[in-house]
Amino acid sequence: MHVVDAPHQRILRLLRDEGPVSRAELGDRLELTRPRLLAEVERLVSGGLIAEAGMAASRGGRRSTLVELHPRLRFAAVDLGASSIDIEVTNGRLEPVAAYQEPADIRTGPRAILHRVNELLAKARTDGAYERLDAIGIGVPGPVSFRDGVPVSPPIMPGWDRYPVRELLAREHSCPAVVDNDVNIMAIGERHGGVAHSVDDFLFVKIGTGIGCGIHLAGGVYRGVDGCAGDIGHIQVDSHGPVCSCGNAGCLEALFSGAALARDALAAARSGESPALAERLAANDAARAAAAIASAATSSASAASSSAASASASAASASASTATPVAGTRPGDPASEAGRSDESQAGGPREGSDNPSRGIPAAGYPVGSGYGGSGSGYGGSGYGGSGYGGSGYGTGFGYGSGAGSGSAGPWLITARDVAEGAAEGDVVCIRLIRDGGRRVGGVLATLVSFANPSMIVIGGGLAQLGHVLLAEIRSVVYRRSLPLATGNLPVVLSELGPRAGVTGAAVLASDVAFEQAS
Ligand SMILES: [Zn+2]
Repeated sequence: MHVVDAPHQRILRLLRDEGPVSRAELGDRLELTRPRLLAEVERLVSGGLIAEAGMAASRGGRRSTLVELHPRLRFAAVDLGASSIDIEVTNGRLEPVAAYQEPADIRTGPRAILHRVNELLAKARTDGAYERLDAIGIGVPGPVSFRDGVPVSPPIMPGWDRYPVRELLAREHSCPAVVDNDVNIMAIGERHGGVAHSVDDFLFVKIGTGIGCGIHLAGGVYRGVDGCAGDIGHIQVDSHGPVCSCGNAGCLEALFSGAALARDALAAARSGESPALAERLAANDAARAAAAIASAATSSASAASSSAASASASAASASASTATPVAGTRPGDPASEAGRSDESQAGGPREGSDNPSRGIPAAGYPVGSGYGGSGSGYGGSGYGGSGYGGSGYGTGFGYGSGAGSGSAGPWLITARDVAEGAAEGDVVCIRLIRDGGRRVGGVLATLVSFANPSMIVIGGGLAQLGHVLLAEIRSVVYRRSLPLATGNLPVVLSELGPRAGVTGAAVLASDVAFEQAS
């Protein structure tokens, strides 16, 4: 399954993952002869990929010079969600030097979305994040032919089927590009810098608009013949269950996903069965009415000319976009509050990743609903402090697209409301989360028997329902799988949260750049 990589790739990856290393240590670690190593290093120095970084501490004999990835190296990482664009520009070590997030409806099609991606990348260049890019990695919410660099029959992405995403990005930015499925890049990201660090065999389960699974086995992602391996959201769990967006009945994601949870929560709110949800429904109604009034006032003010209206639309999209210059961020900067800085990442719960106080992204209304301009008002900072409730992450709970319903209206009640209700002890909210966890756990128990992973990571917007969800998933997986397979099987929440996707996209970008650096 795994081909042995060329020496230059191994050198570049080691420097990416570990930082400056002395020539002597490189030779030892990679088991390269000294002449071979020096030849490879010289070639990479003259190619502008690595640079000298001073002298290493003495190891007793002669001191060896350190080498590092060239400080100029830049990768662009793009994570397209059903309703969001997330972009990071990173240095060679994949540390973000700039980050941008904004709501965007994937259904507006590849031209509009990729145009916006290019605009954001142009902005990053203007902001000084890079002079030229060495590679671009992009994840999309649907099956991808990894070999061809195109989405393949993606159900929630009309117009994207076989659209030449890789080719267009590569041409636009004159660098290699790589396209993958969004769940795969999350798995790759989590392995690079998250809870699955250095774990070779694990499953990354994304529970968001839909449900998907990144299958990371034997050190690499398994994508399947057609790029749709891990599409577990359409495994049937109840033959009498609700009809799914795929047309079948009782799929896992028809029973539990962002859209399904919003549907069930709304029913519980309307029937009065859940006082906590009924209260939130009323509050959301009031907030939406206020937003509609504000929006009407804005549009009547700009109705004087049609060009003014379009200027106002672009201004709204500009203000909804959250740019976070990461370099130079200090605690207390607005950028820190966006939850993207190192400080807030480090401040988040790590081992105790089922900590209920983890920040929950605010409910984001689907783009294109007519509330696009006021979306940032709903995407405020996360509650609960330390998590990643940045304004750009509101989309995590904005399940408008994806269900295939064609409805673009704002959801009346969201997963965040359910999480808040559960935290207050509302029995219906707790039951909704437990029921969902039980469904997911049942499917995962089967996958554990099939693939025998050494870890299961739960990510995506609904992962932040927290410990109630995780406890239920764990209990079902441990109860239903054979003891041998679960004897030492951690089931944990993603550590990177909403950054898992861009992190994995950056890993893929660097891999393709290193591969071609021969
Ligand atoms: Zn289905």
